[in-house]
Amino acid sequence: MNSELFISWAIGLVIILSFLIPYIHSIKAKEAKTKIRLEKTRSKRQDKALLQHPIINQSLCIGCGICVESCPEGDVLGLINGKATIIHGSHCIGHGKCAEECPIGAIEVGLGDISQREDIPQLSSNFESNINGIYIVGELSGLALIKNAISHGIDAINHINKCISIKAKSIYDVVIVGTGPSGIASALRAQELGLNYLVIDQDTIGGTILHYPRRKLALVQHIELPLYGKLNKGEYRKEELLHIWEKIIKSQNINLQSNCKLLKINKDKDGFKIETSNGLLESNKVVLALGRRGTPRKLNIQGEELSKVMYKLIDAETYKDRKILVVGGGDSAIEAALGLAHQSGNMVTISYRKDNFFRLKARNEKNIENAISDKLLKVIFNSSPISINEKTVTLKTSDTNLEIENEFVFIFAGGELPFPLLNQIGIEFGKKIEVAV
Ligand SMILES: Cc1cc2nc3c(=O)[nH]c(=O)nc-3n(C[C@H](O)[C@H](O)[C@H](O)COP(=O)(O)OP(=O)(O)OC[C@H]3O[C@@H](n4cnc5c(N)ncnc54)[C@H](O)[C@@H]3O)c2cc1C
Repeated sequence: MNSELFISWAIGLVIILSFLIPYIHSIKAKEAKTKIRLEKTRSKRQDKALLQHPIINQSLCIGCGICVESCPEGDVLGLINGKATIIHGSHCIGHGKCAEECPIGAIEVGLGDISQREDIPQLSSNFESNINGIYIVGELSGLALIKNAISHGIDAINHINKCISIKAKSIYDVVIVGTGPSGIASALRAQELGLNYLVIDQDTIGGTILHYPRRKLALVQHIELPLYGKLNKGEYRKEELLHIWEKIIKSQNINLQSNCKLLKINKDKDGFKIETSNGLLESNKVVLALGRRGTPRKLNIQGEELSKVMYKLIDAETYKDRKILVVGGGDSAIEAALGLAHQSGNMVTISYRKDNFFRLKARNEKNIENAISDKLLKVIFNSSPISINEKTVTLKTSDTNLEIENEFVFIFAGGELPFPLLNQIGIEFGKKIEVAV
């Protein structure tokens, strides 16, 4: 090899290495960060997905990372040892973009092995549970997404319509519980078919969508609602979706009772006796469209029924120049307190029964420390409210009772999941699911 040729090769090699080495270095650095992220989500038990999620065939995966980039929720997947891996499973909503985009078809979206799961009910292909006449639709069935919720609701009502041959006038044909997308779709289909139905919800209408962050974009492909038609756009803001819900409910005069909580269901020879917070209902069939968020836990103290008491914060910006008490010390409480404390003129106090915050997200831990040291808000540790009055709240602390002035109370004391209620009704879980994903 002459020296000129050698120099050309050497220059070529240097140029290639000058790109390759930083590239490999950046991949390694990214992977190290992903491993740290996985350790964190594992320690908080957030690594596993609860609903439908990507199932990655590791022997096919070529580690191109397209799935990681395509996830609309941002941080569900990552690359570890050159293979796609679920990192933050609890953030997975099951959009399935990863499977669509994977160039070699190494990803499927499904529920995986549910034989040991005690939160996925056994259902027939018509969404009927092990109890004839009780149907379970939407996210409670194990499958997330608005489009699934809507199609489940429609399919269940179609089946109910076929099964009810003689419609007893004295009782409802069907009582639907929940006004998320699955409950609303069920009610619309029931109305379209002329069934004698009632839809109830412990809250106001909207279901989980009501709890999305402000202006969150929801991806909603291929959705068609009975009595409304197609939703033409691929994505809608939370507020737009809720507006559509409200408009249909009003224009179709849907038979709805808000603030009515399902407490118990008993089967009898004519159908079901349904105990609710507003009294007893009787129905031939029941559709449970309860979602999985559960019911916010109450403190059961005097004055909790006052309208100034809330269990969720939807829009911090609507509170200005107010005295506000936030009860709780978890991430939701801290995020709400910080959101409220940043609005002009608010005086925010957190009451927490323990002597310190623990197991907060790193970001919340840092932000709350800064907010306390900047005197943006006040925390009263080792305290719990014992009564709520029109203008004050009484807090019990370790040595005395404190009466603090206050205009709003936000309580974040966790939630009661729907599964004990389903167990009590007699719904069976795990084993086998016939519902198509
Ligand atoms: C942050 C976030 C973002 C999301 N983004 C998207 C997205 O972009 N696209 C998408 O398709 N999906 C998205 N999803 C998922 C989607 O919102 C849910 O899959 C869907 O709302 C489930 O609908 P559902 O009707 O089954 O239940 P829910 O919407 O949860 O409604 C259940 C209803 O039942 C009521 N209820 C519960 N218990 C009782 C009781 N005992 N008595 C009376 N009423 C009761 C509740 O008050 C609630 O109104 C997202 C979810 C989250 C959390």
